[in-house]
Amino acid sequence: MGIHAIEKKHLSAKGLLQKVRHVFEKVPEPSRDLRGLKSGISLTDCLMSALAIFGLKFPSLLQFDHEQEEKTTRHNLKNLYGVEVAPSDSYMRERLDKVDPYHLRSAFTEVFATLQRGKVLESYRFLDNYLLVPCDGTGVFSSPKIHCENCCQKHHKDGTTTYYHQLLAGVVVHPDHAEVFPFCPEPIFKADGAIKNDCERNAMARFLDHFKREHPHLSVIFTYDALSANGPCIQRIQESGAHFIIGVKPDGNKILFEWLKGIKLEQKEVETKEGAIQLRFYNGVPLNDAHTEIEVNYFECTIKSKKGKVMHFSWITDLEISLNNVHELSRGGRARWRIENETFNTLKNQGYHFEHNYGHGYKHLSHVFGLLMFLAFFIDQAQQRCCALFQAALKRAKTKKRLWRKLLSLFTDFYIESWEDIWKWIAGGHGAKLILDSS
Ligand SMILES: [Zn+2]
Repeated sequence: MGIHAIEKKHLSAKGLLQKVRHVFEKVPEPSRDLRGLKSGISLTDCLMSALAIFGLKFPSLLQFDHEQEEKTTRHNLKNLYGVEVAPSDSYMRERLDKVDPYHLRSAFTEVFATLQRGKVLESYRFLDNYLLVPCDGTGVFSSPKIHCENCCQKHHKDGTTTYYHQLLAGVVVHPDHAEVFPFCPEPIFKADGAIKNDCERNAMARFLDHFKREHPHLSVIFTYDALSANGPCIQRIQESGAHFIIGVKPDGNKILFEWLKGIKLEQKEVETKEGAIQLRFYNGVPLNDAHTEIEVNYFECTIKSKKGKVMHFSWITDLEISLNNVHELSRGGRARWRIENETFNTLKNQGYHFEHNYGHGYKHLSHVFGLLMFLAFFIDQAQQRCCALFQAALKRAKTKKRLWRKLLSLFTDFYIESWEDIWKWIAGGHGAKLILDSS
């Protein structure tokens, strides 16, 4: 791997949580009225406690509330998360509801910079130089009743309304690696519009603005689904200095597919473990009628699996396609499934309780919780990629759910001195120091 020992230290749970804590210390107090109110617990302690809830996969705030009254949990929150005084669940909700999610962004760039310095992203280079970043929206929360001033709303024919929150996420993926690294997701607000496309498009514009500001020197290929195969979206991406691979479909991009009918595409065939892959491409195709000035490059692949299943995909890109790179480009386009599977499904079904309602608040709470959950996921993914002890623990636990269950029960029942002790214990107990009683 060649990771320098110091960088490796930063890439552990301890190192990453310290970085995040420093960012939280700079988050401005949202309201003066709250200062000195009640217990005077610091905002940093509130944010770190919420991060601990998601890092430890507490199924509810209420359960956290019960556990944080125990001496063991308090000891471990202080030792492993730096929480001086843990807030009650209602106090935490009240404080975090007023935090502008914007101020949490730097936590993501800090963790990302740590991965960069540790050379972790080297193995994520795609087509030599780029990072591959699929983007997609996902629901965080929905309810027929509970809502806040930022909820999106869906009005049904029977007169009822569904209130919901969504985040637009972009994650660094690689076709060969299971771990993904998220950028700070962009909340989608009510003000973004009543139509799904408008919402995602407005959120995408903000996402790209943040990206350009926070990562001006990063070479990135964003991948999107066919909803973004239009002029305004493509112009946005190019203005941000990035490249794109976007899925296209005959019904959404009629002109493009009509135009291709009269053309002889270049062809290539590849035999892989998956089966036979037929690739076809053409550089310089008009996107549609409205945007004839935008030329794109088209490619498609048809996979005949060894069991006889046939799959077909088609995309457009601004990268020049050649016989040399068309197969790799198609692997990049298909790696999009990692945002659905490795990211959203993991968050929803592998113990993160992503869609569970931890508390809605009146203003920002839903989005703050959504971002902190993504941040906890980011830290987990970084450890899974870089920390040998974490890898050993996961291997021994066999599944993520089982790993998180063991983590939470150790955390609440024993006095723990370090993250190393936790992972060592789960991995088989060798050299781990867990203390049942502090006296
Ligand atoms: Zn809401």
